[in-house]
Parts: sequence; C-alpha cells; structure tokens
Amino acid sequence: MSTLFDKYAPLQARVDMMMKIGTDALGVKFDDILSATRGRIDNREILLAGTNNYLGLTFDPDCMAAAKKAVDDHGTGTTGSRVANGTYAEHTDLEHALAEHLSMPSCIVFTTGYQTNLAAIGGLAGDKDVIFMDADAHACIIDGTRLTNASTIRFRHNSPEDLDKRLKRLGPIDGGHPLVVIEGLYSMFGDIAPVDEFVDVTHRHGGYLYIDEAHSYGVFGPTGCGIAEDQGVLDKVDFISGTFSKSLASVGGFCASRHKEFEITRKVMRPYMFTASATPSNISAARAAVDKVKQGAHLRENLKARAEQLHRGLSELNFDLCADPSPVIAVRRPNEAVAAMEWNWLIENGVYVNLAVPPGTPQSSSLLRISLSAAHTKTEIDAIIGAFKGLGENQGEMMQSMAAKLQAAE
Ligand code: PMP
Repeated sequence: MSTLFDKYAPLQARVDMMMKIGTDALGVKFDDILSATRGRIDNREILLAGTNNYLGLTFDPDCMAAAKKAVDDHGTGTTGSRVANGTYAEHTDLEHALAEHLSMPSCIVFTTGYQTNLAAIGGLAGDKDVIFMDADAHACIIDGTRLTNASTIRFRHNSPEDLDKRLKRLGPIDGGHPLVVIEGLYSMFGDIAPVDEFVDVTHRHGGYLYIDEAHSYGVFGPTGCGIAEDQGVLDKVDFISGTFSKSLASVGGFCASRHKEFEITRKVMRPYMFTASATPSNISAARAAVDKVKQGAHLRENLKARAEQLHRGLSELNFDLCADPSPVIAVRRPNEAVAAMEWNWLIENGVYVNLAVPPGTPQSSSLLRISLSAAHTKTEIDAIIGAFKGLGENQGEMMQSMAAKLQAAE
C-alpha cells in the first residue's frame, strides 16, 4: 500500500548515503558556542568557518548588552504581529536607523530575512506586474514570487544583457511594471552582481530594481550599505532587502526603499501582518550592530584581508574555487559523496564549513562552502588552509574508508 511519504524515497536514499559516510550535514549539533569563531562538538573544539557571521558581532559586548537590556525593559517576546499587538519602540527605532543609514525614506523590518523577501516581493508585485528574477535566486525570492499572481521570468545569472533581451522581448506591460530581483553577493558561489549595469537596464525599461543584500549589507561599501553602495548606485536602487542573521548578528530582516509610498505595503504584506513581530532583544541586538556596521571600516578591511589570504592559500593548493575572493569562498567538489566525505573529515579535523549540495546550489554543484568572519585571525585562516591541505593528502585513505563504510552498510 502506498503512503504519504513514498515521494520522499529518493531523498531518503540520499540521506541514508550521507549517514553511511558520516553525520547528517543538515543536522549538525554544536554542544557549545564559545565565540564568533569557535564552537565545541563533543569534547572537540571546532573552528567555525561556515556561520555567515561576517563581522563577528554575535559576541560583541555592546550588541549583547543591548539584547539583555531589551529583555529587562520589554520582556522576552511580542506575542503577536504588529498589526494585531502594536509596534514596539525598538521596531521603529531600528527602521529609522536603517532608513537613515541607507539614505532611504522608508524601511520596514520583518521577523526573519526569509519572510522579508516573501513579504516584500509578494506585496510589491500585483497581478499585472512581471517579476524578472536571476536564475540563481535564493529560495525565499522564489517563494516570494509564489505569493503573487504576477508572472515570473528568469534571466541568465548575473547577465544584464540577458535581462535586457527579455525585457525588450516582452515590450510594454499593459497596466503593470517590471520588478527585477537580484542579489548583491550570491551566497553559494560568492560571486557579485554588476548592480550598476542592472540599474541601467532596469530603469531603461521602466522597471524597478530590488536587491537582496543579505550577504553584503555590512560587508561591502565605504559605510557598509552593501554592493550597491560599493558600486556607487545606492541612490538609484529601488528596494534593498537584508537580513539581521548575518553581519547584524541577530534574527530578522528589513526592506528599505527610495519610494516613500512603499509604506502602504505594510497593509497588504501577509508575512508581515500574519506572523509575530521580532522580539525586543533580537531587534535591539541588530540596532546596536547597525552602529557597528557604520563604524566598521576596520572590520571590513580585516574581512577582506582574511578572504584574500584564504583564497590565495586554497588556490595554491589547486582547489577549484567558484569566484574571486569574497567572504564566501566555495570549493567545488566532484560529487555529493566526495563532498560529504570531505566535510566529515574536516569536522573530525577541527574545521566546520558548510556542505552545500543540489538543489540548494547553482549548476547542481557539490560544494564545501566557507564563510569568513572579521573575527577570524590570520592563524585561524592558516588552520583552515592546513585542513584543506590535509584533505588533499588524505584523499586515497578517505576514498578507501568511504568505500568500506558504504559496503559495510549494504
Ligand atoms: N536572502 C538570502 C540571499 C539568503 O542567503 C538568506 C538565508 N541565508 C535569506 C535571504 C534569509 O535570511 P534569514 O536566514 O535571516 O531568514
């Protein structure tokens, strides 16, 4: 007799294969988190190189103090959405701080970064609008398009030329507008969008440009506003979204706009209206982190230097890297089984990176994805390089052990 779960048989087979090789990569449990770059699994201390903690602010004393004070002042939770339970001072304070930092008249904060894109894309695109989305768009952008009745067209990754061709082909939209959605720094390969060119193409066709700067806010640009600022076009971008869960060391998200009319969407965005608002402590930690971002040129310099050090080290070891140096450095592996085996080996040897496999990766690639932090020291980067060197040196032994594990489990 068939069951509701039969459709997951192929997925279960993949998980079983991973488990035969080692731990469940989607279920790693840290027994302790010691700092922005150190954790513990069982009795082993692990160097964290897959946290997206780009500025290393999770243990910053001011961010921690702000979160603690918010709990003392306003309690542990909001127990409802802003439309039902009202807005807290923390929410508006953070919205104003982000709007001011980005020099935009409107900013709305959300409970997570994922919900930000669901809400904003879902709220902005009406039935007659057309969403143009980069082929490598993050899951929450794709899911955002599913909350609208707008039609969606994908264009080639990071190709303003392909976008231009598709906008031309579509021609004027009767009663609607193009909404072009890209990211600043792409989270899997660590490659960067030519935002300045996307601004030109989008506006030439009467469209609106929306950038998800989840991995780039705080990290790029003279004042940390992101890739758009870095490329000198911050004032031309229509919408910038971001998350608090990376450089801002908390949980939540925001979308800011140079159009003050964006405010009206608070009354229609379902993932804003029908979910509890972020807790005072999450919001206050992010608020303190925004100040760190603004004054964080030294953190960005550190991060850049560490990224260059790691990229150089891995290139010298002849690893196949997916992009130029950035805080995300992805190492391409031949297939999922090898990547899983190496990922386990790295953990056993004291380094935690991300195992990234399809469908979460572009071009169906299997990756060992490293994300760096301004808190990483030079010595820690050397340790990561050393661990990858060990991977190369122990390939033969690893292959044999993997074959044995797979055989033993049959
Ligand atoms: N946008 C991008 C590009 C992301 O990579 C992510 C998550 N990694 C999000 C949005 C969602 O952010 P959050 O995890 O804070 O919900």
